[in-house]
Amino acid sequence: MKPRVFSGVQPSGNLHIGNYLGALKNWVRLQHDYDCIYCIVDLHAITVYQQPQELLAKIRETAALFLAAGIDPQSSAVMVQSSVPAHAELAWMLTCVTPMGWLSRMTQFKAKSEKQETVGDGLFQYPVLMAADILLYQAAIVPVGDDQSQHVELTRDIAQRFNALYGETFVVPETKLPLVGARVMGLDDPLKKMSKSEPGSGHAIALLDPPGVIRKKFMRATTDSNPAVDFSALGTGVENLLNIFQAFSEWPGERMRSHFSGMRYGDLKKQTAEMVISHLEPFQERYRQITSEPGYLDGILAAAAGRASLIANETVELVKRRMGLYVRY
Ligand code: ATP
Ligand code: MG
Repeated sequence: MKPRVFSGVQPSGNLHIGNYLGALKNWVRLQHDYDCIYCIVDLHAITVYQQPQELLAKIRETAALFLAAGIDPQSSAVMVQSSVPAHAELAWMLTCVTPMGWLSRMTQFKAKSEKQETVGDGLFQYPVLMAADILLYQAAIVPVGDDQSQHVELTRDIAQRFNALYGETFVVPETKLPLVGARVMGLDDPLKKMSKSEPGSGHAIALLDPPGVIRKKFMRATTDSNPAVDFSALGTGVENLLNIFQAFSEWPGERMRSHFSGMRYGDLKKQTAEMVISHLEPFQERYRQITSEPGYLDGILAAAAGRASLIANETVELVKRRMGLYVRY
């Protein structure tokens, strides 16, 4: 049996090149060597308010983007989190073994709660639900971007604590980060990670942005007061553009250096935009094909939910037995 991989994306806005380079690109690479479950984590998205009709549309859009990125639904399960109730069920059981102190150290909670007028308890509990997502499938590997490493670490801690309290139950998962593109920064502010939920129109390159919009956003990207690329003194904005270029092109470091040393920022921006467009154009074409077939997507999501439920329910039953909860014999 192949070891299992689990990862997810929230349907909380427009997926961007950070989501692609940090997560999706690695997912595609892993899918034939592992038993992969890729999830649209809608229960995570509602930790901050989502307009209901928009959320529903984004769930389907996100699923189509997974497929457009190259996830093969014949070999990987592409599923929606809320269609497998065991996610929420296991989350409660894990909530009961997670100290609040562990959760209050999470940097994402601090950053996201600052932006909310009222902070729902779900935002605080978010990492426990994420632990449940991963542990439910006994995943060995979790391919995510750098911003999620802290949550996977917490998942490991929760798994180990549960195993120590109730006996060996969960596989303790490993994080898998991409070598380049693990943390793509905002184009408007290279000190902030690129995020779906950031409002600025020049902040992120969405996977479905048309070429003209992509060019404009790159040309407006924040750099620094130097005129040209100097590898001995790279500003964060310029470093981010170089990283984006390298992650898409897969050029080795030496080629990057010899090609971009001394290049004026305007040219760096143009070349980065064209490199990104050359990858996103075929991607967008596949997206249009996938969404033009009525029923295709829903069929995939339903089959994957059925397949995932079998594994998930087995884990929940094991956890119930371990904890002494009632299981019908
Ligand atoms: P939100 O603002 O709603 O949290 P997000 O852009 O952070 O959206 P998520 O759905 O939280 O996206 O994360 C999905 C995956 O994309 C995760 O694996 C995460 O680590 C990765 N990811 C998110 N942002 C980046 C980024 N800027 N660079 C690299 N990977 C990223
Ligand atoms: Mg996020």
